[in-house]
Amino acid sequence: MASTTIAPEVGSAGNSELREITHWIGGQKVAGTSGRFSDVYNPATGHVQAKVPLASRAELDAAVASAQAAAPAWGALPPLRRARVLFRFRELFEQNLDKLAEIITSEHGKVFSDAKGEATRGLEVVEFATGIPQLLKGEFSEQVGTGIDSWSMRQPLGVVAGITPFNFPVMVPMWMFPVALACGNAFILKPSERDPSASILIAELLKQAGLPDGVFTVLHGDKDAVDGILEHPGIKAVSFVGSTPIAEYVYSKGTSKGKRVQALGGAKNHMIVMPDADLDQAADALVGAAYGSAGERCMAISVAVAVGNSTADTLRQKLIERIGKLKVLPGMEKDSDMGPLVTKIHLNKVSGYLSTGTEEGAELVVDGRASALPKGEGFFLGATLFDHVKPEMLIYKEEIFGPVLGLVRANNFKTALELINQHEFGNGTSIFTRDGDTAREFSHSVEAGMVGVNVPIPVPMAFHSFGGWKRSLFGDHAMHGPEGVRFYTRIKTITARWPTGIRAGVDTTMPTLG
Ligand code: NAD
Repeated sequence: MASTTIAPEVGSAGNSELREITHWIGGQKVAGTSGRFSDVYNPATGHVQAKVPLASRAELDAAVASAQAAAPAWGALPPLRRARVLFRFRELFEQNLDKLAEIITSEHGKVFSDAKGEATRGLEVVEFATGIPQLLKGEFSEQVGTGIDSWSMRQPLGVVAGITPFNFPVMVPMWMFPVALACGNAFILKPSERDPSASILIAELLKQAGLPDGVFTVLHGDKDAVDGILEHPGIKAVSFVGSTPIAEYVYSKGTSKGKRVQALGGAKNHMIVMPDADLDQAADALVGAAYGSAGERCMAISVAVAVGNSTADTLRQKLIERIGKLKVLPGMEKDSDMGPLVTKIHLNKVSGYLSTGTEEGAELVVDGRASALPKGEGFFLGATLFDHVKPEMLIYKEEIFGPVLGLVRANNFKTALELINQHEFGNGTSIFTRDGDTAREFSHSVEAGMVGVNVPIPVPMAFHSFGGWKRSLFGDHAMHGPEGVRFYTRIKTITARWPTGIRAGVDTTMPTLG
């Protein structure tokens, strides 16, 4: 296939004419007509670089109608033909990886190499979904009764929707749509209004790959669009990723309207550091997991639980040394380790926790507000470390979603484990130890959906499934992997008698084998 790249539509700050982002409906760009817009910032400069339309109910109706028109033919295609479209998309996506990463960095703020990493993890779900004929295979039982065979098949749901957060504008939509499309559904994406542009490039690439018009839709919007999706009778299932209050709302409203819903929420991921751990390895891992992407990752480690005061003291010192070397710079700068936060509002919220933590009695060991930050109006905050964090503090209980790590001191492994199990969130967690017995006990007993042993961010590969426990996930299915296939299909079981010549006679009792 010829190499094809598409120039990103990233506007530059200071333009008097703001770039207007479009929806993607019926296989083409469609300008918003609601008259409502939201500003899209470049977080590294603090300037508005584009405006994104916020869809009206009429625009949602048009999007659903176009998806409904396209879904039956797409769902009826042999699965291998659908997989071939994804194969072509995979190639195009890879050719455009740098463009996608530039768009992510420009609107989200994360470091360019991190943005490429995000897109690559998304691509892995496409690779998984290209194996869909294998995953859609049903089960067959011969001779369940005399001359009777029975088998199950998985069929698409029809039109499904995905509502996604700002922190992974490419990867999180790709947890959803490759599997949904491969299973034969039409997919409507409602991306975050804070970094919406990558979704339109993805839509263009899907079209180039041969996806029929209407099978993939992008509809930008805010609460109004989300409520419209949850209420629309034409949408059969909703996948959501975002904060816990909205996840809970989406789950309860969506299910009350008879939809299948998977809603992934917030997190407060703990990492236990045992006294026998390699503390250099643990400190390296903590710095990457706490401050990578400025802490705006649902799998970021935001609590380090050191077992024993001596472990805590040594770990603290190693963290301070490493934090001092982190470079906080715009995400496109080569040396940058950490970019800005996504918006000024979010920066203010995260900075507020620094004051809260001090008032609550935690020790502010490294204050990110005092770091050498780039000059200008960008939304930068340096890496922050609190010590002596206690479970009753707000900085422990709440998700901060910024570059803020809290060090909690626990007397023993049991206390450390209980802390995690009592927390309202249960997304990811990890332990650093050299002791197999402790690691095994931790993996078995910890109440979280994704567990790492000497691995700080245990994000499952695409062929496993991603999802937390407790108030980090509402619904019965995690995303991608086998769980994703189950979510985007419904099972039908057929019982058939051949040859027709067998006569059992009239019998009004419940059929049994006898
Ligand atoms: P958010 O909840 O503010 O927004 C998520 C989506 O919901 C967006 O598309 C947004 O437009 C929509 N939305 C916002 N307010 C709404 C409302 N009142 N009613 C209906 N819809 C609304 O989340 P965010 O700030 O974009 O993303 C960060 C959050 O996402 C963090 O809490 C993070 O932990 C979470 N997250 C979780 C996972 C996971 O796998 N569990 C992954 C990524 C992010």
